[in-house]
Amino acid sequence: MDGVYVAWLVILGGAGLIVGSFLNVVIYRVPADLSIVRPGSACPTCHTPIAPRDNIPILSWLLLRGRCRSCGMRISVRYPLVEGLTGVLWVALGWWAWGTDGIDPLLPLVLVLGSAGIALAFIDVDHHRLPDSIVLPLYPVTVVGLVLDGLLSDHWPWQSMLIGAGAWLVLIGGLWFFSGGRGMGFGDVKLAPVLGATLGWVGVGSALVGLMAAFVLGGVAGVLLLILRRAGRRSQIPFGPYLLVGALVGLFWGGALWDAYVGSLGL
Ligand SMILES: [Zn+2]
Repeated sequence: MDGVYVAWLVILGGAGLIVGSFLNVVIYRVPADLSIVRPGSACPTCHTPIAPRDNIPILSWLLLRGRCRSCGMRISVRYPLVEGLTGVLWVALGWWAWGTDGIDPLLPLVLVLGSAGIALAFIDVDHHRLPDSIVLPLYPVTVVGLVLDGLLSDHWPWQSMLIGAGAWLVLIGGLWFFSGGRGMGFGDVKLAPVLGATLGWVGVGSALVGLMAAFVLGGVAGVLLLILRRAGRRSQIPFGPYLLVGALVGLFWGGALWDAYVGSLGL
């Protein structure tokens, strides 16, 4: 690995940690309808504002041994976890975008979608919903991101984009409709076309493999929950995280898996 590539991944990882720190604020405040700008971060227990030196991603939590400097109450391990997860995601997307002919111009869009995805996944687990205030702005963001990619790469795969968006909308929407909204929430239906369109822009295989992966992951998790909590109970599993992890699988490996599948059919 050459130095430029390592530096690229380190920069993305560092930026991801800082973004993750902001996502903690989003995850906590957006469902509560609080401003994500003001006031600054404070201890959840004693509300003492957190000084900049105690606000360094992961490191501060470790140095303070997961406790507030003023009141000594425990600060959830989830805060450094979200920061670390975002850092790892940004490195992974930087790896994905790095090619022999430069950096994929779709990177800004997938960074935004991936980061929003982390916030959405945690909010979904906590509150069983995907807030419109995060999901709906992703539509114009996606259009801008795809047009930017089209202009920079001179490649406009709008047909596979429509196939991807349509497949995700029809399948997720269908499942929502026929399950009477019990299997998944309408937030998942609103999120689906954004993920499908972006994956479809990368390739039809990415969109279809991602959708398949989301269903397999969600299905396995659903069966596990039924077994652990005993069958019969109407267990509501938040489906958002599976959509998002499935989309990542589609982005990273969908093209290769799809080509291998099509090749095995002899097409
Ligand atoms: Zn405190």
